[in-house]
Amino acid sequence: MAESFAVKLEEKRYYPDPRCRATAWTPDYTRAYSEFLRDPEGFWDRIARDLDWFEPWDRVREWNYPYAKWFVNGKLNITTSCLDRHVAGGRKDKPAIVWHGESGEKRILSYEALHREVMRFANGLSSLGVNKGDRVCIYMPLVPEQVVAMLACARIGAVHSVVFGGFGPDALAMRINDAEAKVLVTADVGYRRGKTVPLRKLASEALAQTPGVEKVVVLRRETPGVELDPDREVDYADLVARAAPDCPAEAMDSEDPLFILYTSGSTGAPKGIVHTCGGYAVGTYYTTRHVFDVKENDVYWCTADTGWITGHSYIVYGPLEVGTTVVLAEGTPDYPDPGAYWQLVQDLGVTIFYTAPTAIRMFMRYGDEWPAKYNLSTLRVLGSVGEPLNPEAFEWYYRAIGGGRCPIVDTWWQTETGMHMITTMVGEPMKPGFAGKPIPGAVVDVVDRTGKPVPPGTGGFLVVREPWPAMLRTVHGNDERYCTYWKTIPGCYTAGDLAVKDEDGYVMIIGRADDLIVVAGHNIGTAEVESALVSHDAVAEAAVIGKPDPLKGNVIKAFVTLRVGVNSGDGLTDDLARHVRKSLGPVAVPAEFEFMDRLPKTRSGKIMRRVLKARELGMDPGDISTLEE
Ligand code: ATP
Ligand code: MG
Repeated sequence: MAESFAVKLEEKRYYPDPRCRATAWTPDYTRAYSEFLRDPEGFWDRIARDLDWFEPWDRVREWNYPYAKWFVNGKLNITTSCLDRHVAGGRKDKPAIVWHGESGEKRILSYEALHREVMRFANGLSSLGVNKGDRVCIYMPLVPEQVVAMLACARIGAVHSVVFGGFGPDALAMRINDAEAKVLVTADVGYRRGKTVPLRKLASEALAQTPGVEKVVVLRRETPGVELDPDREVDYADLVARAAPDCPAEAMDSEDPLFILYTSGSTGAPKGIVHTCGGYAVGTYYTTRHVFDVKENDVYWCTADTGWITGHSYIVYGPLEVGTTVVLAEGTPDYPDPGAYWQLVQDLGVTIFYTAPTAIRMFMRYGDEWPAKYNLSTLRVLGSVGEPLNPEAFEWYYRAIGGGRCPIVDTWWQTETGMHMITTMVGEPMKPGFAGKPIPGAVVDVVDRTGKPVPPGTGGFLVVREPWPAMLRTVHGNDERYCTYWKTIPGCYTAGDLAVKDEDGYVMIIGRADDLIVVAGHNIGTAEVESALVSHDAVAEAAVIGKPDPLKGNVIKAFVTLRVGVNSGDGLTDDLARHVRKSLGPVAVPAEFEFMDRLPKTRSGKIMRRVLKARELGMDPGDISTLEE
């Protein structure tokens, strides 16, 4: 691991409209944070009371390093907070899910309809022999039934393991076997870019390697419906039609597992992260309401797939706990054209929009004219997650999408954290390039390898000092790996990211610890060099790696994709080198450039630097099961 190091910080700020702050759920960040610090258990206790519990907790938190329990001995079922209480409490007819299929299909499920579907499917799963604690794998396209399947598992206390529908048979088989799933829920097909993705066929290939799976539920979307294998397969619609309508919610202990979910695999083999019922419910509820500042009439759209943690926490659980209207859209951002998302924002009157830097950079690449064709005036809050939001991308998002009016919440968190940990709360001044400050509820710090905080302007390891409710409880089947998170830097949860704080306590993520580049004794995070490159007019995206060099230890190599209409001739590399020198100084200047049509990314849209590095150095890239095709 590297020592701490100096980082150049930008000074720019954006001030939100004062009205944002006046009406925000957290109107005064500083006060909320100090209230939290004064009495962390009291803080979480008050929030947890907003949810439905069968039995209250004896203690808010039990910390037996590195193991935490939250809401000890509390009994709940997350689905009653997501569904029953809204049905009973006046949101019965409110749209819970507004779904748009890629082929133009539309469906709206009210809270009452969603509740009904979930209970029926839950009974259907029970009739297949699924019991509390059993694992169910969900491998589906982005359709309402995917959400229904997750909630149905939770209803009966089964543990879901959702596998993104873009994965192939081997990745699916690995996850089914690792989680020891007994039932698989899938669909005949998904639709992507006008083509069908044969999920059932892919699943059948995976099932040849998964002896533990007893039954497969197949949602049939195509007509005429495919013929099913009567021994193993069950039709989704039949199962639901035969099932009894009422399904009481299983009383779960706070610490019972809710789901297993695999990380993106950006830096190595994916890890099966285990989340539990109580703390996760509280953490996602609170952050959804306070970070996105959700109000009763909002129309909320998170463009992630439900197969990622962002989808679990901020499409399904958090937004439904809050009782908002959730937009669900199958398909890709630039299909049938790069205006597809903005059309939907306009048509549905989306007010809160949450996406990833990879999508924002893609839209930038297509230019302002696409969003300019649509009326985006309903937008109120914009969010970003997944990778550092480069300052250039922040400014474009703020201006071209938000009309200079919407706060941007750049949320730093992980599969492991389960909930947002760092952001700029709505109403606070925003600084492009910085995710923001720890949210009230999270104790985040930047430290050296001994756990000592580093001064502002100095890079170090991003850690969490105190347990938080939605934290992972273990890595499925590998508790040792879990302990590593807490033992690498004594007493702290090590996130694996490098960061720097400024004088005001704003945190900037400067890269993955694994990707740090040491050039002539200087530590260089990947993000600052990449952001410097992206701020050049010709550049759409950039990824940098270190290459061993006899003189300097390492030199930087940059992989660059260009904006539409730009080509790589005419001294562009010299110009890019000059541009980086000007913004970061000579040590950060890449020694080599390579222009590419696209960068290798995980299926969740994150740049995979290790793949570039392995290719460059002729090494084995390791586990590439999550690499996009
Ligand atoms: P793996 O752990 O398997 O290598 P991964 O870390 O990409 O994969 P995720 O849990 O999906 O898996 O992603 C979490 C990581 O994404 C964070 O550790 C961080 O590096 C990055 N990230 C998420 N949000 C932000 C953000 N707002 N700013 C900067 N980086 C972010
Ligand atoms: Mg990770």
